Amino acid sequence: MSFRQTILVLLIFFISACGDKATSTTVSPKGDDSGVLVPEEIFPKNIILMIGDGMGIAQISAAMYLNSSKLNIEEFSIMGLQKTFSGDNLITDSAAGATAIACGVKTYNNGIGVDMDTLPVPSIMEIAKNKGLAVGMVVTSSVVHGTPAPFMAHVPHRQFKEKIALDFMNTEIDFMVGGGKKYFDNRKDEKDLYKEFKKRGYFISDYFKQDIFDMHVSNRRNFVYFTANDDPVPAAAGREYLPYVSSIGAKFLRKRNEKGFFMMIEGSQIDWGGHAKDAEKVVSELNDFDKAIGKILKFAKKDKETLVIVTADHECGGFAINNGSTREMLFPAFTTNGHTADLIPVFAYGPQAELFRGIYDNTDIFKKMKQALRLDKKEN
Ligand code: MG
Ligand code: ZN
Repeated sequence: MSFRQTILVLLIFFISACGDKATSTTVSPKGDDSGVLVPEEIFPKNIILMIGDGMGIAQISAAMYLNSSKLNIEEFSIMGLQKTFSGDNLITDSAAGATAIACGVKTYNNGIGVDMDTLPVPSIMEIAKNKGLAVGMVVTSSVVHGTPAPFMAHVPHRQFKEKIALDFMNTEIDFMVGGGKKYFDNRKDEKDLYKEFKKRGYFISDYFKQDIFDMHVSNRRNFVYFTANDDPVPAAAGREYLPYVSSIGAKFLRKRNEKGFFMMIEGSQIDWGGHAKDAEKVVSELNDFDKAIGKILKFAKKDKETLVIVTADHECGGFAINNGSTREMLFPAFTTNGHTADLIPVFAYGPQAELFRGIYDNTDIFKKMKQALRLDKKEN
């Protein structure tokens, strides 16, 4: 072997060794390839994951400028970006986007908590419950909608909403507030899931019976409350429960058990503003979601054991703030009434927040959350 050949062989060996490292998907607890160090001993007891459906950078920018540049989301100092493409499309839908975050797999658009072969994949919420943590969700769509569904259900298509509701009976949920009453108590198959919840000792109520703002919520029983028969009204029409219920939900879950909790909060209708090419709706829904972020950051700062993650499933509308806009008056524009493939910001606060720096796949959010909660190490 000549000197030149030896150098070549060494070079190939070196490149392939680097290649192996680059394609590895495991994240070291001590840090990652970016050189960011993660404290080894400080792990969160709780995770609160907040998803602003359809919330891209331009949506956040618009709400920020119109709020005199004061949003609660500005308090985050640790940020990353996620790639949202799904298993069969560069442009994801909410079902595949949420399945990636909830279950850690890229699936086809419309798939709920299943892989490319329609096989069920356990979600972070189900794994957390299996390990003895309390779990909960608060959303401003129906609870059987594309984003919340993959946390609790495994069905081949997002439109199978009654089947999704049925899957909610497979995993105990400690705290749940959102729309979708009719999928539980007025079903085509005539199953009464209200009765089933009651049989299991849950407290269950809805918008029709009482106002959630007037209720005393006891953490002694599982708490389920429906805010609408199907999807709740927009924030602009007077819907204002998200910030308040996010706050009481976090406190409820913290008192619920010693092991900790996992909670998902969704600002569901930012996306619907994008689909409608309605910038005012985008901003009013984002403001509502940001108020919930403020409540949760307040909780986490006091609690000190909670990792808060704020992100979206995808961008919606190809939203932009056009030339001619001022800080008081925006000239927004949309390039589509559908989703786009923009990179999406991820904001993190609390123990192990550093894990969320960098650019990574949406499926890595599942892996990072699982790692932060050390779910692999907890006994059943
Ligand atoms: Mg959604
Ligand atoms: Zn959408």
